[in-house]
Amino acid sequence: MKLITCASLLLALSSASAWAQSTLIYAGKILPAANADVLERQTLEVVDGRVQGIHEGYVSAQTLGLADAHIIDLKEQFVMPGLIDLHVHISFERDPQADPERWLKEVEADQALRATQFLGNTLNAGFTTVRDLGSYNEVIFPLQRAVESGVVQGPRIIAAGEAVTPTGGHGDLHGYRQEVLDAFAPRMGVCNGADDCTRAVREIVKAGAQVIKITATGGVLSNTQAGLNQQLTDEEMKAIVDTAHNLGRPVTAHAHSAQGVAAALRSGVDSIEHGSYANDETVALFKSTGAYLVPTLLAGISVSEEVKHNDKVPQAIVDKITQVAPVVKASFQRALDEGVNIAFGTDSGVSRHGDNAREFALLVEYGMSPREALATSLEQAPKLLNMSKEVGKLQNGYYADVIAVAQSPLKDISQLSAVTFVMKEGKVIKHHEQD
Ligand SMILES: [Zn+2]
Repeated sequence: MKLITCASLLLALSSASAWAQSTLIYAGKILPAANADVLERQTLEVVDGRVQGIHEGYVSAQTLGLADAHIIDLKEQFVMPGLIDLHVHISFERDPQADPERWLKEVEADQALRATQFLGNTLNAGFTTVRDLGSYNEVIFPLQRAVESGVVQGPRIIAAGEAVTPTGGHGDLHGYRQEVLDAFAPRMGVCNGADDCTRAVREIVKAGAQVIKITATGGVLSNTQAGLNQQLTDEEMKAIVDTAHNLGRPVTAHAHSAQGVAAALRSGVDSIEHGSYANDETVALFKSTGAYLVPTLLAGISVSEEVKHNDKVPQAIVDKITQVAPVVKASFQRALDEGVNIAFGTDSGVSRHGDNAREFALLVEYGMSPREALATSLEQAPKLLNMSKEVGKLQNGYYADVIAVAQSPLKDISQLSAVTFVMKEGKVIKHHEQD
């Protein structure tokens, strides 16, 4: 196996593009969509960054009426659409070894520059679209523009910007004297009362958000003993949801306690992140509203692993991890058994960027079939992004976001952790070639 560097490959492609915008991928096996049959010996035609068709057999450019085409040989590979992750924090990554005073010394650009590495790791792992649910506005929106314009290589970003949170809530800053908090706490998203939360949503949308993230309940990784119960009031959440929906933005709620999950669902949110606790009421509300659960199983596993080795984690956080970890699996399985809509999200940033595909293995370990697990990313996630006609499938008109693995992930889901080929919008990002 030999890794062709991105730079040399891109150079080759861009010099070729002067006369050919077309690429033909010869796929030994191809899964065009999560619910499709696996086809063998097919040619995937890519023109100007979009899928132009899938043809039986390995056909030439001339046969397709193309003047010329770049040929990519994946005859020994299993080809499928690029993966989608609905919950990442691309601007940071938990790092127990990092200087604990780093955030006091740095400016936003430090975060953005570090994030270019996280974007690369995520894209190279086969994730071609991500939704960022909580980064500083000054970091995430410039990153989004940089990826869009090709200045930085990374997955397409759909971004929430700052989370909407009450004073002292999970999205606020904790544990320092007031002058420090005044200097560093989030400026836009902290709100109290329905009118003020309406303001927060409007400002965040104005700053560039495509989706609104709220912290409906306490969170595991905030340094406060405020627990995991409801934090935004019913009235605040209703105001947030109405304002966001009127501005054409979906709302997703970080929520752990069952009572908080239920309150968020009653207010009309489109999805729940984590949803660690479940009861009869939450399951009934998920089903009657059609809202999605984004279970982020990997986040729970990663923090549980981290506290075993990192004795610097504050006690308030350790207590909440100990409280939540044992209930997550049962709540997920209940949602699965009862037919709740489930979509794919990892909370990467809590775990390492690039390890996102571990979530698939957990979904399968906890009871999903490999095909169901794939559908959470390729079928359900695009619906929450309002991108069902653009990502998640290899069909005419869709973005040519293409990945390959050595063996079928329908037989062995862990294959998704060893992606051999990545193309985003027709551009080859990674290609391990056999010698
Ligand atoms: Zn998160």
